[in-house]
Amino acid sequence: MNHLIRCVKCDALLFKTPFDQWPEYVFEPNSSPDSVRTIERDDYQDFLRDHHGHRLEELTILEDSFVSEKPYVEPAKVSYFKATNGKENFVIKKHRKKITDPLEYKLIHGDLRLKCLSVEVQSKEIKKQLLAECPGLSEEKAESFIRLCHDILKMVDIKNLERSKEESSHPLEIYYQMDDVTIAHLLRRCRKIFQGKEYLDIEDFINRHRDDSVLLLKATHGIEITQVAEPKKEIRPVAFPIESRKLLRQR
Ligand SMILES: [Zn+2]
Repeated sequence: MNHLIRCVKCDALLFKTPFDQWPEYVFEPNSSPDSVRTIERDDYQDFLRDHHGHRLEELTILEDSFVSEKPYVEPAKVSYFKATNGKENFVIKKHRKKITDPLEYKLIHGDLRLKCLSVEVQSKEIKKQLLAECPGLSEEKAESFIRLCHDILKMVDIKNLERSKEESSHPLEIYYQMDDVTIAHLLRRCRKIFQGKEYLDIEDFINRHRDDSVLLLKATHGIEITQVAEPKKEIRPVAFPIESRKLLRQR
């Protein structure tokens, strides 16, 4: 089980995993494979020692709040998630500089949200798919269809559209499905450009690709972090080590 521990005094964080107590194996260069040096490590004990006498609390990670500027598969990247102590919300920045470095966690007092920066039609993908599926269609007509999609895009408000269930490989790219009203507008405009079988082909194409394919609208987001002033720390007596507590009582 993983736990996220915060030192309230220093705002330091420890992500406690079952791997904390695994020894670290160090391969000495220019030596035989048997001479592996084992370094005993216990990150949790180190954290307790460094923050001895400070108040510690466990933070709850808010599910589905993970965001990153780079694709999920990228190992050395900055990502963020939200966590709370029940009273205050925090943004946690998680990063490592190199793949061999340990992950570092930094606490930010504030909130984060995804801000939509641009919405686009997948022009290149539409053209490729359209020409492959409708061999009789000229390149010029395919371009006209893409222009129509761009015109339609100007009329939609992404906030009213449904998010596609298709998983994007990039965390900041979200795909949206055109709704029935938008599709109706698109079809009406298509009637002016395509006739007969060509129109029927286009209509089929739209129905085939509207929900989970090239006709999805691609919205690119940026991560916006709003920092808030740190609330004043409560003044409470710190937990004294047992010896000093005894001394106090004797006075
Ligand atoms: Zn501390």
